[in-house]
Amino acid sequence: MKPEIQSKLPNVGTTIFTVMSSLANAHGAINLGQGFPDFDMHPALVDGVAKAMRDGLNQYVHMCGLPSLRERISEKVNGSYGSNVHPDTDITITPGGTYAIYTALTAILQPGDEVILFEPAYDSYIPNIEINGGIPVPIALKYPDYSIDWDLVKQKITSRTKAIMINSPHNPSGAVLDESDMKQLESIVEGTGIFIISDEVYEHLIFDDKVHHSVLRYPALRERAFVCFSFGKVYHCTGWKMGYCIAPETMTKEFRKVHQYNCFTCFGPVQYALSDFLKEPLHYLELGKMLQKKRDYLMDKMKPTGLKPLPTYGSYFQLYSYEGLSELDELSFAQQLTTEGGVATIPVSAFYHKPIENQVLRFCFAKKESTLDAAAERLVRYFEKNQG
Ligand code: GLN
Repeated sequence: MKPEIQSKLPNVGTTIFTVMSSLANAHGAINLGQGFPDFDMHPALVDGVAKAMRDGLNQYVHMCGLPSLRERISEKVNGSYGSNVHPDTDITITPGGTYAIYTALTAILQPGDEVILFEPAYDSYIPNIEINGGIPVPIALKYPDYSIDWDLVKQKITSRTKAIMINSPHNPSGAVLDESDMKQLESIVEGTGIFIISDEVYEHLIFDDKVHHSVLRYPALRERAFVCFSFGKVYHCTGWKMGYCIAPETMTKEFRKVHQYNCFTCFGPVQYALSDFLKEPLHYLELGKMLQKKRDYLMDKMKPTGLKPLPTYGSYFQLYSYEGLSELDELSFAQQLTTEGGVATIPVSAFYHKPIENQVLRFCFAKKESTLDAAAERLVRYFEKNQG
């Protein structure tokens, strides 16, 4: 008799990002699916890592992250968000934002606890809740602006509600929470034992003069929140898998209990380089403008396709509606565009526990202009041919 795993995640397949990237590679398609930039990151940051390695800084750094990096982060967030984050007790360096979210859920969840989240949701959230014995309580965002129906949230709160997960700027829609959203959230959790898990990995990728309303700006939310960030998104190095989690001291203590026996500590040389690089705020302050230009560039080139852009105010992504252009469901249409049109995207239906079909696909515009040109050109040709 051979051992057999009784799956903890029986309904989980391969993440849509890997599925679409593999399909893109197999068909030589331009990959506007998975969210990663194809342009170079800053050479000084690469040099900084090489230098740290050459300088012999190759042993374990502190379990919670390099102290100087945590200091730079606390200066950054306290400056940007007027918060009171302490480098020793409130910040933990993690191998990416997804890991930070997972660890926060692992730290707080007991079997049967409910977690409210908003769909479309980044595809790790629900499996992360389930593997920790929690019960996901998904609430659909309103289409087409992907805003939150706060009255519905109030209705979904029960005595088992352990946490509410928010994500702004939002993946996949690019919707951004504003002050009134944060105030409503504040009033919902006031006087309860509900935690907030805030996915803010796109904090600096924000457009049209919108302001990022970090949970860290709101003391009544901050005191109950795990706030998760990503260096990959800020410095165009998603493959480095570096991020951090900010939470109050008592919550961070529990977070670190999980972290220390799972990852223990993250790759060291990158942390030396990041702690130097963070001294120059322009590197992250100019990001929004740069990405906004790319969003507008792609939108302009896509006009002749007939695909209709939905507004996006942040992130790497823009949704396009193909209403009137195809009757296929989103996954089938995304596959067809990849294999026959030569451009890979992500079907938004993949971000729902039960696919909701709105005929929208997610395009990643964090690419060189030449990539965006080539992708738009292929799509224009595809739609010319397929409209007869
Ligand atoms: N966050 C990225 C996206 O939404 C991909 C991350 C991943 O592939 N796991 O496309």
